[in-house]
Amino acid sequence: ADPGTAGLDAVLGDILAAARASTDRGRVADYIPELAGVDPGQFGLSVALADGSQHSVGDADVPFSIQSVSKVFALAIALGRLGDRLWARVGREPSGLAFNSILQLEHEQGIPRNPFINAGAIVVTDAALAGHAPREYLGELLRFIRAAAEDDDIHINDAVARSETETGHRNFALAHYMRAHGNLDNPPELTLGAYFHQCAVEMTCAQLARAGRFLMGAPGMPRLVSADRVRRINALMLTCGHYDGSGDFAFRVGLPGKSGVGGGILVIAPGRASVAVWSPGLNAQGNSKLGTEAVEMLARRMGWSVFG
Ligand code: GLN
Repeated sequence: ADPGTAGLDAVLGDILAAARASTDRGRVADYIPELAGVDPGQFGLSVALADGSQHSVGDADVPFSIQSVSKVFALAIALGRLGDRLWARVGREPSGLAFNSILQLEHEQGIPRNPFINAGAIVVTDAALAGHAPREYLGELLRFIRAAAEDDDIHINDAVARSETETGHRNFALAHYMRAHGNLDNPPELTLGAYFHQCAVEMTCAQLARAGRFLMGAPGMPRLVSADRVRRINALMLTCGHYDGSGDFAFRVGLPGKSGVGGGILVIAPGRASVAVWSPGLNAQGNSKLGTEAVEMLARRMGWSVFG
């Protein structure tokens, strides 16, 4: 076994104990009504290692709404379809603003800062649609995620998608604004229908950790995109994956990660591990509070960092 992974199970046990003892779990997102009722007491963590083993603790087999973690899979699909032409429509800079901010769009002619803020992810989904019906795109997305996880039991929660369709006025505003600037090919309703369903994919930590293995850049892992693209997606996760909390996440954890308002985070330790953590309570930037603390402890105790 990799000497770098000895002691992992003991570390996971300590992290679970710390999570269970925590008295400040953050706040569950309630702007999507269907997610407001999720029990904040839950915590799951799963680690898929380069040696093929998987180690999980807590509620690692409870499905949750992956929300913005889906933006990683959507980006991989859109890059597969368009290649570097995608970068004419979306930037690669951290925004320093909230995930749902509209501020920069006016100054930057409807070109969002990066593919992980909502505006950027809506453009990515619009590009990935590329003349296909939302149903076809969502089928491709599920095929991609299932192939990555090597698990067919991964589905979209229609009630969550419907709930967000009824209340997602900010996302409609973003989409219409970009359409006005010519940066949306499809009618906003169509692109957002696909986007809301993409965000409503449900997975367990165990499934998500496995689905992230294609980003590890390790031999023997599912190879769904080129090695070059894997590096670039990781770079974007590190710099933009936690919105205006990206710098702090890089400082504390030192690994590429993508969060979602469902409380999930996918974290990649290149060459070593794919990690999924879930705790529904969020911090002020909309990223899982205990999830961040857990992967901070994991990275430190295991000595995992992209900074050596
Ligand atoms: N579906 C959510 C939204 O668009 C995703 C946001 C998130 O997970 N940060 O608001």
